[in-house]
Amino acid sequence: MFILKFQFSTVTVLGIPFINTTNDTFVHQLFEEINTDQNIFVVTANPEIVMYADEHPEYAEIIKQADYITPDGIGIIKGAQILGQPLQERITGYDTFLSLLDWADANHKSAFFVGAKPEVMNDLRTTLQEKYPNLVLAGTYDGYFETDEHIVAAIQLTQPDMVFAALGFPKQEEFIIKNRHLTNALWMGLGGSFDVLSGHVQRAPKFWQRAHAEWLYRVLKEPWRIKRLMVLPKYLSKVRKSK
Ligand code: UDP
Repeated sequence: MFILKFQFSTVTVLGIPFINTTNDTFVHQLFEEINTDQNIFVVTANPEIVMYADEHPEYAEIIKQADYITPDGIGIIKGAQILGQPLQERITGYDTFLSLLDWADANHKSAFFVGAKPEVMNDLRTTLQEKYPNLVLAGTYDGYFETDEHIVAAIQLTQPDMVFAALGFPKQEEFIIKNRHLTNALWMGLGGSFDVLSGHVQRAPKFWQRAHAEWLYRVLKEPWRIKRLMVLPKYLSKVRKSK
């Protein structure tokens, strides 16, 4: 059966087309596609990822193969405003992840988890079993593997509905592109989401999120991130020039 892929309208920021929709519409689209066994690759991109893609054409080629690229990060919302093409909403990897887990729990769906440090993965397994008792855990592997052969074999065998890869960029998207043929599932890169859900890292409270200062909260908690934020001014000036 050939199912036409739904197209959201997009806003292109530095060559990356971001879907222009709401969290709610987006996750319902994903539920529908998972239910019809489609092969879906989702990238949730922030300015760091956009700048990395700008400087690494091979990575840009990978993320352009995504079915959906969502605006994760206030910098993308700002970039779209600068271009005079505002996006409706920020759609973060973490929020999408939580919506998918709630839905999977309510509908007995299966998910495969790969990423994060071994101790984080241990705690994540416990969190998942406690919070989402009806979610089927197809496999859980930490993200510090030498080769992915055993992970590939496990995905092939279990044929999960969803594969969550939290390996940081660009590793997670490289892993997905290499392996998405293994099963018709939702494949999604999730950065540090396993650290947050397992309780190892605290997400910014709602106040900081609403004040559009989640990035500042993260830097205060994890000061080494300041180096990674240095790309922001460069990114904004590049977007202005591209107008
Ligand atoms: N990570 C991993 N394997 C690696 C490198 C990183 O599993 O080889 C994990 C790391 O432990 C962390 C996540 O990938 O859980 C990256 O988190 P970060 O918050 O840095 O994500 P980003 O900001 O890159 O999306």
